[in-house]
Amino acid sequence: MSGTPAPPLSFINKVSASNKIPRQINRNLIFNQIRTRQPISRADLARVSGLQRSTVSLIVEELLAERWIVEGSVGRLPRGRRPTFLNLNCQRGVLALDIHPSQTTLAVLDLSGKTLSQNVIALPEDPNKVVAAIVDAIQAMIAANSDRSFDGIGMSLPGRFDLEFKKSNLDKSIFAPNISWPIGIVKSRVERATGLRVVVDNVANACALSEVWFGDTDGMHDLVVVNVSEGIGTGIFANGRIVRGEGGLAGEFGHVQVDPNGLQCSCGSRGCWETVASNRAGMRYYSEIAKKPSPAFENLLKLAAGGDPASKESINRMCIALGRGLHMIATALAPTEIVVVGDITPLWNLVGPLIEAEMLRNPLVRVPRIRPAHDGDKARLRSAVALVMNENLL
Ligand SMILES: [Zn+2]
Repeated sequence: MSGTPAPPLSFINKVSASNKIPRQINRNLIFNQIRTRQPISRADLARVSGLQRSTVSLIVEELLAERWIVEGSVGRLPRGRRPTFLNLNCQRGVLALDIHPSQTTLAVLDLSGKTLSQNVIALPEDPNKVVAAIVDAIQAMIAANSDRSFDGIGMSLPGRFDLEFKKSNLDKSIFAPNISWPIGIVKSRVERATGLRVVVDNVANACALSEVWFGDTDGMHDLVVVNVSEGIGTGIFANGRIVRGEGGLAGEFGHVQVDPNGLQCSCGSRGCWETVASNRAGMRYYSEIAKKPSPAFENLLKLAAGGDPASKESINRMCIALGRGLHMIATALAPTEIVVVGDITPLWNLVGPLIEAEMLRNPLVRVPRIRPAHDGDKARLRSAVALVMNENLL
């Protein structure tokens, strides 16, 4: 049994206050206790949740009727009634889309966040054909998993958008400088083609939500997720909620200028943090040092792990730039914890100490804990489950 805590009440309070809230909070609490501790009996649920036995029974009956959970094996006790254990319904799932500028990962996950199948789609060069390619791939994935019922599609995007406009007019309100295709229309197209509900959010926000939803953080403390990929985005969880800012644009530390004479950035500015600290920057360092084109970023990492000097030096430069940016974030937001998400996290033994040493090179009044996302390269996919379940269960 896992001792992972369930999401706290402050997290669930993100929805506006209404008289349904206490019941919803308890539902969420019970669901997440089952998720993290399954198989579990009703009696143990009452014990770990601190709720009354009758309240637990009522919610369990509701979750059973709605088929979020199922009754499984019968437990053994020395004497008396034998308890029936509860599990999440493993027939239900979520489709996850992790959208990058030139590729998209599509996966089927169960409600506990476990990946069941996964596919990488190379996106067409022609920007007008990208959305159709994504829709086709989703339909093929649904057809290949016809034995499963899907509760929705979660999409994490490398962009920001205004939640006020999210439902009606996403394409007019999106900031996605690394994307050259019409990403704003993908939600409505996929909804129309599949009939499933699509929940979208910025990838770093989704990962921050996921950290709380899956109980990797207690949700009481402030947390910043730094997503290091083609660009850099951050998701800020503070005072019990995701900080979105005016127009949904909060968290664009990747576009804070760190070098006025630096390279032109996709946002129109110059010398932004992501021009020196992203995967793209790591690859550029390699081509400068080795005087030849860089391999794909994942191969660059493998070379660095194998001790190749040019690769190590380029990853080292990238980590120094990352550490400097984390110093800025720690100074600006004073989070308890900074969680790094991205391709570099499987090599945390190598990159973690470099990043942290640079962050600590100059004084910080409050030093945050810094760690990679627990599920490394799966964090972005898992965040799609958090997006969908956060809306569905509530
Ligand atoms: Zn920029």
